[in-house]
Amino acid sequence: MAQLTLKHIRGNTYYIPAPANIGIFVEGDQAVLIDSGNDKEAGRQILRLLNEHGWNLKMIINTHSNADHIGGNAFLQQRTECRIAAPRGECGFIENPLLEPAFLFGGFPHKDMKNKFLMAKQSTVTDVISEPGAVADSDLKSVHLPGHFFDMVGIITPDNVFFIADSLFPENIINKYHLFFLFDVKAHLETLDRLKLIDAEVYVPGHGKPLSDLHMLAETNKNKVLEIMDNILSICADPVTSEEVLEKLCNIYGISLDLNQYLLLSNTIRSYLSCLYGEGRLEYIFTGNMMKWKQGRDHYALVSEMQEISGGR
Ligand SMILES: [Zn+2]
Repeated sequence: MAQLTLKHIRGNTYYIPAPANIGIFVEGDQAVLIDSGNDKEAGRQILRLLNEHGWNLKMIINTHSNADHIGGNAFLQQRTECRIAAPRGECGFIENPLLEPAFLFGGFPHKDMKNKFLMAKQSTVTDVISEPGAVADSDLKSVHLPGHFFDMVGIITPDNVFFIADSLFPENIINKYHLFFLFDVKAHLETLDRLKLIDAEVYVPGHGKPLSDLHMLAETNKNKVLEIMDNILSICADPVTSEEVLEKLCNIYGISLDLNQYLLLSNTIRSYLSCLYGEGRLEYIFTGNMMKWKQGRDHYALVSEMQEISGGR
């Protein structure tokens, strides 16, 4: 792992650029982290940086429980006995890390699935974030950003720096990967709209560089999700299994899957299918003991309605 360094953002707010960025807010000699990096080594380097500045680690706030955001928790908590705050719906995964590969696979995960990208070391949540507002006794505020995972939050520091977690991804990541992990597609789209209404001086995404404005990027993220929905609907012109939907989408975007990507994306595809079923645009049938997805009645109604509107112009 490359040597991690500290970058100043504004006032008492800093961040450590990393594969999953780490935020730091300092009051006196007390530091609060926003996420903890992707593994023990990240935790070790974070602690070195804190020590170099004479800061004591008071608390880690986890925006969500994905292994790359909580990977330094166990090491840092063992070394410093720091508190860990996390949203209610994410606590179970932090305290029982086996849940993440089990959730992604949809069954008992075999040993290859229990790797550090999908399964962090166990740590203990001391402060549950159950509603928006001040986190524990700190001056940091949480904002509910559901969609990417069960109960993700963003964190706003008193310097008006907004750590937006994985609510949006940078353009280069979207153009390279196209498909990125989503749990609740509808909630994600609503979160993207809501993000634009929250003013901050600087926005720091979980992955990528800080931004001064996120309107354009939120639109880019939203358009990619809508494009994937359209592609899934076209794929489902004939009944197909969710595995076939994944295969065909990967062909469209030139993606070749490894084990981790397969687990993340097959799970994400099922979330898209549920979302489109909820909107009446897909239906499921059982044929030959296979669950297959096809365009729903409301999809035809929506398409013909749209054709009428464009024909009338
Ligand atoms: Zn992430």
